[in-house]
Amino acid sequence: MKIAVCPGSFDPITNGHLEIIRRASRMFDKVIVVVMSNYFKKTGAFTPDERVELIKRVTGDIPNVEVDFSYGLLADYAREKNAIAIVKGLRAVSDFDTEFQQALANKKLNPEVETVFFTASGENMYLSSSVVKQICEFGGDISEFVPPEIRDDIEKRLRKDIKI
Ligand code: ADP
Repeated sequence: MKIAVCPGSFDPITNGHLEIIRRASRMFDKVIVVVMSNYFKKTGAFTPDERVELIKRVTGDIPNVEVDFSYGLLADYAREKNAIAIVKGLRAVSDFDTEFQQALANKKLNPEVETVFFTASGENMYLSSSVVKQICEFGGDISEFVPPEIRDDIEKRLRKDIKI
């Protein structure tokens, strides 16, 4: 069975992430989307559990996707799950430097696993969780950037004019 892990902060998951997950699910037998703890140094808008729940909700229709979180090293996590690939999305040249560095480090730590890059679609290449959070915080419309099932949760958490 060909297993891939798809790591990230997912704070929160966006249409950009979801597109990469869907494409990966067509290439691998199983895709494990993993919310990584090393991304939590900066406090996020959502807790790890919340991020996992949001991802589960929007990937529920993809049978070969699992969602998990990890507090350890990605290279170790991939080994533990018998993954053959780490799937990442590349948006622009600006992503390349860090992604290349991470891929080399992960190869050193776990030579069994390949990092595979999917190019972002033209539509989503400007999209990041930070952009979504900024737009939402100031009352902008995020409906084109995040799956409809989780839009309310994001607005409730971030919009300054909504009281909960
Ligand atoms: P963000 O930069 O949105 O916080 P993450 O750290 O959660 O993203 O990223 C997890 C992975 O998803 C990374 O490989 C990142 O490049 C990829 N990714 C994020 N947004 C997009 C997008 N709009 N299109 C393609 N890949 C993306």
